Amino acid sequence: MATIQVSVITPDGAVYEGDAELVVVKTVEGELGIKAKHIPLVSPLAVGPARFIKEGKEEQVAVSSGFVEVRPDHVSILAETAERPEQIDTERARKAKERAEQRLASEHVDRKRAEAALQRAITRIDVAKHKGA
Ligand code: ATP
Repeated sequence: MATIQVSVITPDGAVYEGDAELVVVKTVEGELGIKAKHIPLVSPLAVGPARFIKEGKEEQVAVSSGFVEVRPDHVSILAETAERPEQIDTERARKAKERAEQRLASEHVDRKRAEAALQRAITRIDVAKHKGA
């Protein structure tokens, strides 16, 4: 099957380079599936996993907000933060999840900020399970 090149880049550098038959990202409008020869587009990303599928195998990267730029032969994910499974400290993410949940349980809180922190932590915990997949 045809593949499309993928790169995940953060301000700290490239996190992932590869090619995939199918790329699935979480945009602010929902999940977007991308194959080779997709129409060009740019879309803001939500917090969530970016998934790369090839020959029945799936790799994932945890992505916080940013942008996806699609060209017919290349998908660029430009993220504020991104981690491959082996880069994720699950214990740190669990603690971040607990902190976010405690904040959301109290009244005087910036809910949007706490919810974003919670989503980042949940995404990291989930993506960390894809180690060696
Ligand atoms: P924390 O409260 O644990 O710092 P956070 O969601 O506020 O979590 P971010 O601001 O999204 O953290 O990320 C700051 C930097 O730390 C980024 O470079 C990000 O890749 C890295 N990072 C955050 N959480 C983890 C984690 N659980 N494992 C590995 N790297 C992480």
